[in-house]
Amino acid sequence: QSLNIAIIGAGLSGISAARSLAAAGHAVVLFDKSRGSGGRLSSKRTEFGNFDLGAQYFTARDHGFRQELKTWLDARYVEEWTPNLYQYDQNGLQLSADNQQRFVGYPRMTAWSRGLLEGLELVSSTRIEKLQAQDDGQWLLLDDQQQTHGPFARVVVATPAPQAVPLLAPASQLAQAASQVEMLPGWTLALSFAEPLDTQVDACFVRQGPIDWISRNSSKPGREQSDSWVIQSTPAWAQEHLDTDKDSIAGSLQAAFSEVLGIKVPATQFSHVHRWLYARPGQQCEWGALAAPELGLYACGDWCLGGRVENAWLSGQQAARTLLSKP
Ligand code: FAD
Ligand code: NAD
Repeated sequence: QSLNIAIIGAGLSGISAARSLAAAGHAVVLFDKSRGSGGRLSSKRTEFGNFDLGAQYFTARDHGFRQELKTWLDARYVEEWTPNLYQYDQNGLQLSADNQQRFVGYPRMTAWSRGLLEGLELVSSTRIEKLQAQDDGQWLLLDDQQQTHGPFARVVVATPAPQAVPLLAPASQLAQAASQVEMLPGWTLALSFAEPLDTQVDACFVRQGPIDWISRNSSKPGREQSDSWVIQSTPAWAQEHLDTDKDSIAGSLQAAFSEVLGIKVPATQFSHVHRWLYARPGQQCEWGALAAPELGLYACGDWCLGGRVENAWLSGQQAARTLLSKP
C-alpha cells in the first residue's frame, strides 16, 4: 500500500530518505523553508563563479555509500577533487598530502543535491512550524503562513536538531533526544581576486584561532572562474563573534587568511560573508535516526551520527529503512 509521506528538510538527509521511500512506491513530498534545496550543501552563484559556502567536499567510507557514489560519478553529479593539501600549525604552513579520496558536487556542490531530487516533489519557501495529529492518526503540517499541508500517514523530520525539536513535540522522547544535541555555528568568507594569488595552496587545515579551513574554490572541478577562495571559521571563534557585523568578520578572517598563506592579499573583486547558526553538531552519536513508529514520526540528519555529508546520507537511509520495516 502506497503511503503519503512528508519529509521536512530537503538537505542531503531528507533527500536520501525521500529517494528510498519513493523507490519503495510511496508518495513522498519534501518541504523546505529555503527557496532552493540542499541545505548545508550550499553554493552561491555570482558573476565571479560558483562558491561552495557550506560543505567543502565529502569522503566516502561506508560500503553502501561508496556503491551509490559510483552511480553519482557516472551521472557526473559528483567528481573527485585532488587539491594540493596543506596544514598550518605552530611550525607554519606545510604540505600535508594524504591518500584520502575527496569528492565534490559538479560543477558546484548543489548540482549534486539538485540531481538527486530529480523526479521528487519539493515544496520550497515553506517553513513548517507544527505537526497536527488528526483523529485517524494522520498528520497535517502547519506552515508559518498558517497554511496546512497533508494529510500524511508518516512524517520524517530532516532538519538540524534545534529546528527539529518543536516539530517533534508530539513525540516527546524524540524531541527530548534532539534537544540534547548542541549545534555549533560557523562563519564563512568567500573571496575572489582578479589575479591568482601567488601560492601553491589549494586547501589547508588550520583548526586554530579564527580559521578552521581554507580552500581554493576555483581548484575544484568545473569551477571555471577567477581565483576564488572560501575561508571557514572555527566553531569557537564563531561563537565568540556570533553577533559581530559582517564587515568586521570579513576583515578578521581576511587578515588571518593572509597570515596563514604568508602573502599580502591584494584587493578583492568579490567578498561575501555567510553565518551558519547550525553548522555542525557538537558531538558524534550513534542513533543513526530516531523513530516513533507508533506515531508515524521519524527524524534524521547529520546530528544523528556526526557532522559529515556521508553521515547525513546514511542517517536518511536509516530513517527510511526503519519506516519501511514498520509499514
Ligand atoms: P541540512 O543540510 O542542514 O538540511 C536541513 C534542511 O532543513 C535545510 O535545507 C533547511 O532549510 C530545512 N529546514 C530547517 N527547518 C525547517 C522547517 N522548519 N521547515 C522546512 N524546512 C526546514 N561535511 C563534510 O562531510 N565535509 C565538509 O567539508 C563539510 N564542510 C562543512 C562546512 C560548513 C560551513 C557547514 C555548515 C557544514 C559542513 N559540513 C561538511 C557538514 C555537512 O554540510 C552536513 O553534515 C550535511 O550537509 C547535513 O545535511 P542534513 O540533511 O543533515 O541537514
Ligand atoms: P577528512 O578525512 O578529509 O578529514 C577528517 C579530519 O582529519 C579533518 O577534520 C582534519 O582535521 C584531519 N585531516 C585529514 N586529512 C588531513 C591532512 N592531509 N592534513 C592534516 N589534517 C588532516 O574528511 P571527513 O572525515 O569527511 O571530514 C569532513 C570535514 O568536514 C572535516 O574537515 C570537518 O571539519 C568538516 N566540517 C566542517 C564543518 C563546518 O561547519 N565548517 C561542519 C561539518 C564538517
